[in-house]
Amino acid sequence: MLEKMEGKLDPEVVISEFEALTKDAEKVQRETLKRILEENGETEYLQRCGLNGKTDPDSFKARVPLATHKDLEPYIQQIADGTNQSALTGKPITTISLSSGTTHGKPKFVPFNDELVDSTMQIYKTSFAYRNKEYPIGNGKALQFIYSSKQFKTKGGLDAGTATTNVYRSSQFKKTMSSMQTPCCSPDEVIFGPDFHQSLYCHLLCGLIFRDEVQVVFSTFAHSIVHAFRTFELVWEELVHDIRTGSLSTRVTVPSIRTAIAKILTGPNPELADLIYNKSAGLSNWYGLIKELFPNTKYIYGIMTGSMEPYLIKLRHYAGGLPLLSADYGSSEGWVGANVNPKLPPESVTFAVLPNIGYFEFIPLKEDGINGEVFVEPEPVGLTEVKVDEEYEIIVTNYAGLYRYRLGDVVKVKGFHNSTPELQFVCRKNLLLTINIDKNTEKDLQLSVEAAAKLLAEQKLEVVDFTSRVDLSSEPGHYVIFWETNGEPSDEILQDCCNCLDKSFVDAGYVSSRKVNSIGPLELRIVKKGTFHKILDHYVGLGAAVSQFKTPRCVGPTNGAVLQILCANADKSYFSTAF
Ligand code: AMP
Repeated sequence: MLEKMEGKLDPEVVISEFEALTKDAEKVQRETLKRILEENGETEYLQRCGLNGKTDPDSFKARVPLATHKDLEPYIQQIADGTNQSALTGKPITTISLSSGTTHGKPKFVPFNDELVDSTMQIYKTSFAYRNKEYPIGNGKALQFIYSSKQFKTKGGLDAGTATTNVYRSSQFKKTMSSMQTPCCSPDEVIFGPDFHQSLYCHLLCGLIFRDEVQVVFSTFAHSIVHAFRTFELVWEELVHDIRTGSLSTRVTVPSIRTAIAKILTGPNPELADLIYNKSAGLSNWYGLIKELFPNTKYIYGIMTGSMEPYLIKLRHYAGGLPLLSADYGSSEGWVGANVNPKLPPESVTFAVLPNIGYFEFIPLKEDGINGEVFVEPEPVGLTEVKVDEEYEIIVTNYAGLYRYRLGDVVKVKGFHNSTPELQFVCRKNLLLTINIDKNTEKDLQLSVEAAAKLLAEQKLEVVDFTSRVDLSSEPGHYVIFWETNGEPSDEILQDCCNCLDKSFVDAGYVSSRKVNSIGPLELRIVKKGTFHKILDHYVGLGAAVSQFKTPRCVGPTNGAVLQILCANADKSYFSTAF
């Protein structure tokens, strides 16, 4: 259907299907809900809600409550334990996904099934079709920094791994990648290798070997691309040596990876080694590295919105003018929308909701309980009832056993594509930093860090990564921002950065509390180089995949281990004198 005879995807066909699908999104939503409820009406969960075979939106909203992951946990546990694989879905769930867990400190179990693979492929193909219209690519390869997580069996014998791992393992994934003319440079053994440091090294090596064929540089989240090229800065001479001698570095010890790479690194190639050496050595501060190494790259692709925005400065630096195209919006629980306007810069990317992959509701966001009013949460509205420029919390019902599930994200409606909304990702819903009447989200923190980082940039230094916490151990409580920087900024400049951070939280609650000292001076703590890599390693140890890693922007009581890493590696502290 979506593909032409030779297996190549025909963008025009995909685009016309998407245009048809979004013409009457309301109708498609009704049909989608009906199908989901018909397929799963007999499950324990929906039976308990007393739907009695009803499949219309009104009955659904009246009988099925809004739910969080915590509400579904007992059902997911039954599935994982093998005691009731149909607790949430008509067709038994045979695979469990682990969400990245970077928001709450530990990975969560969520159901995974073929319908999720189908919607993933639909999303990939849809955004590819629109992307290809603006940035056509020829036959070639994609340098993909993708990694699998550890896989294990649940108590009930179900396969468990991160959602991206489950997708990469599906036969459809490879087929879709080939249909988009972008098979991965690296063999499967590298993607599914047990040690991501070794996999990353080999991704870089394979990319260099196929450098002329690389059309696209990709990772799921932009963090992995930045991480990869930061690593390149450290290991490039070793990579050049491998290519020169035709032998793989001893840092790669996994036998299956060594065997697979031996088929690609087939002999000494001193010309290529010289070329890469000269290109790398000739760069000033690695500006334009990606373009130099992979001269036929048409664009860089990956999620660059939300918690990935802070990596854009570094990514643009490495890209050296290559277009940055931000990827689609979804989660382990299911997909939401595709980027069908690839020309938009990452900072203003929107996602057109695919109305047939789930039933979507939106809770309008309003200020809660100001001046002692009792807060009553507004009723959710339907996909086609949302209003432009309003912010909403998104609620998902889909084929993978989620019914009115609070995804935990805040989105803003920027417009409509036909009748389906185009959403901008705003932030995770949980408030990050709050002590009393102050409320600062992930986005507020990001803006504050961006403002302060400009002072470092004047010295040609940068913030490598950051996180935060609220410290209530002394009165009054205060915000702590952790920074890893490159280079050695002076005390003076870091004190200025600290003051700037404090001043850049413009939320009225924060500013007024700071003025009367009911919130203490903000603290900037500088951590040793490599601290954020240790945090990444910590999550990977818990079963997370590098492909889905997002640095936790606030370290709450649930991630004590991360706080321990931060505190053990803290070098210096600065307290704001801004108020
Ligand atoms: P995971 O735990 O890996 O399933 O992460 C899912 C979460 O990642 C979503 O709920 C969002 O908060 C975030 N996310 C996914 N896609 C995007 C995107 N395109 N832009 C911003 N954030 C995203």
